[in-house]
Amino acid sequence: MKKVYGAYLCTGCGIGNVLDVDGLKDAASDAGIAMNDHSCLCGADGRAFIEKDIAEKGVNTIVVCACSPRVMQHEFYFGEQTITVRGNLREHVAWTAGEAKEDGSVDDFLQEMGADYVRLAVTRAQKTEIPVPYKMESISKKILVMGGGIAGLTAAKEAANAGYEVTLVEKDSQLGGKALGWRKMFPTAYPYSALENPNIQQMIADVQANNKISVKTGCEVARIGGSPGQFNVTLKSAGETTEWDAPAKVSAELNDLITKGEAEDPNKGLQKYTSLNPDGLMFGAVVLATGWKPADVSQYEHLGYGTLANVVTNAEFEKLAKNGKVPARVAFVQSPGGKDHDKDFPYCNSVTSMVALKQANYVVEDNPVDGMAYILYQHMRTPGNTELFYKGMQAKDGVFMTKAAVTKVAAAGNGLTVDVEDNLLGENLQIEVDMVVLAAGMVPTTATESVINLAYRQGPAFLDLDLFDGYADSHFICFPYETRRTGVYNCGGVRKAETMEETIDDATGAALKAIQCIESANRGVSVHPRSGDQTYPDFFFSRCTQCKRCTEECPFGALDDDEKGTPLPNPTRCRRCGTCMGACPERIINFADYSIDMIGSMVKAIEVPDDDEDKLRIVVFVCENDAYPAIDMSGMHRNKINRLVRFIPVRCLGSMNMVWIKDAMSSGIDGALLLGCKYGDDYQCHFVKGSEIATKRMENIGETLGSLGLEPERCGVREIAISDYDKIPAILDEFVEEIIAMGPNPFKGF
Ligand code: SF4
Ligand code: SF4
Repeated sequence: MKKVYGAYLCTGCGIGNVLDVDGLKDAASDAGIAMNDHSCLCGADGRAFIEKDIAEKGVNTIVVCACSPRVMQHEFYFGEQTITVRGNLREHVAWTAGEAKEDGSVDDFLQEMGADYVRLAVTRAQKTEIPVPYKMESISKKILVMGGGIAGLTAAKEAANAGYEVTLVEKDSQLGGKALGWRKMFPTAYPYSALENPNIQQMIADVQANNKISVKTGCEVARIGGSPGQFNVTLKSAGETTEWDAPAKVSAELNDLITKGEAEDPNKGLQKYTSLNPDGLMFGAVVLATGWKPADVSQYEHLGYGTLANVVTNAEFEKLAKNGKVPARVAFVQSPGGKDHDKDFPYCNSVTSMVALKQANYVVEDNPVDGMAYILYQHMRTPGNTELFYKGMQAKDGVFMTKAAVTKVAAAGNGLTVDVEDNLLGENLQIEVDMVVLAAGMVPTTATESVINLAYRQGPAFLDLDLFDGYADSHFICFPYETRRTGVYNCGGVRKAETMEETIDDATGAALKAIQCIESANRGVSVHPRSGDQTYPDFFFSRCTQCKRCTEECPFGALDDDEKGTPLPNPTRCRRCGTCMGACPERIINFADYSIDMIGSMVKAIEVPDDDEDKLRIVVFVCENDAYPAIDMSGMHRNKINRLVRFIPVRCLGSMNMVWIKDAMSSGIDGALLLGCKYGDDYQCHFVKGSEIATKRMENIGETLGSLGLEPERCGVREIAISDYDKIPAILDEFVEEIIAMGPNPFKGF
């Protein structure tokens, strides 16, 4: 596309009150694009002002210097064939300025900020290309549901009701999963006092009667190759062991394409890849509903599981209750006790609390005269309406509950004794019971089994399961159902311990995500969190050194490779985070609207005064997911922002290529900060590990800077949650003070 530029400055929202408009227009002209101003660009008149240039001058590349790109997106959208770049003069400059000066004069430092943001936007527009979406030649709109319990049955039914064909695979010989063995389910309606009969048989019947759902019982997934839109699935009989050598075969074929220079077009590569297993079943997306297993409680020897008769898990007790009358005196032990009283059994949560309450009800229901249920807990968790059920059980005759630590369970005649300390009564107790029930938690099947069996370069399972307690989510808080493998959505017990009611909600959500994924692949756009993004990483293979950093660091396993290590892209697996771009030492991975050259050029577009020690410059690379909106909110709160700082947004800190730090240092910028999401156990990174990877890269670049005689501390990383916007000014001020103490970059002016 031959670019015809138009640049527009909004003087509304206070921008024109605190900045010199002509000075900003000059900055745009000096950077190569003439700029016009308008008092309210987002209004109908302002939009018409821009549309006139589109119609009359053929403008197709637009720079809007006004408010944050996170707002007024509809107002500044001019169609897919028009590039629009936004410069944030409102939240990042004008609203951080305080009151306009009474004499109308402009603060020098603020004006320099404004001019830099104009230059940054102009540079970005100059380096942006219109993306061409990746379209598959053919796409499957079928959904594979793995697991035939409540979650799988619900996901299958919901997807089918939305018009999508479903294959439901269950490894047992019948559908229903664990719910088949449940006597009752929790109350789901006001007054939340009566347990309800499970409706699992009706759910099974609904699925079996649905002609859009094909059910395969006694069946497992042997392998899943390909990518969203074209998952190539091989099934096997449950328990059957299969050998699989397809990945090597695929690599050889694709290597051939690359040698011929054809695999630079990911279309060709992928089509070839999927044609290698033509007999496999094709699916567009996968719902993983493989459930949970009870946690192992045999390690708590003082509780006697596995050694004493009548010490059972809650799951085992449920089966007893389903099949007959339960004993009259039962102790429900909710935490292991011992020295660390506060700790629960692994994988326990509110569901195990509710299960104890439900099962205590069986005890008094089956033994109306002498039933005694003792619930001994450290934490009783009954969220939401389940609190009402808890209160009802508290008031029930025969149910006794106390916070307590169980120190010993021992055999006593035909029964058991339970020794209890630190209870609410203040005295140690010994309770005589017929049975002890241990609250075994719900361990996701992903923690213990290779349930998914992907034919991916990064291996058959989800990555880093040990870091995330075996859960496969890509972001537990913000992105429910999304796993670290695009196109695979989890729900039910494999995602988290949950009730039947929650499972049904969960599975409906996962089915919807699977549908969104298929339709996104069909349109050639990204799924969440960059929903609708038409770009994807473009590799300049002829300069690839096969270092494998991109294939290894991609958080979503989007890249396979051949025997030599040349990456084999799978664009529909890609979430467009740019981590591969940040990883590549050859700098040969780029997106149409986000590239090494673009960000490097933006860094260089920041004007660095080389003769004024009061005007140091600090570039802050800002993660677009949490940090950038946090800065916007800081601006909305009219917090002051340090005027030596310039923000450059990046897709994720994982996309930070260290050449940008070198660019900054060599152009005389005095400090560089990365501002992104928290990482570690409570990670908030939208791309799982981007901020962690960036931190590691920064440690290495610090060493490089040291060898050049620059203080490694000139580069730093800070974590910020979106809700911590009021902390931003202090975080920046502190870093700037550190740079000021070090003095100007000694390379300034060279
Ligand atoms: S690192 Fe991110 S952008 Fe690169 S291939 Fe993987 S998902 Fe896509
Ligand atoms: S990181 Fe760059 S050089 Fe290394 S394998 Fe990937 S594309 Fe090739």
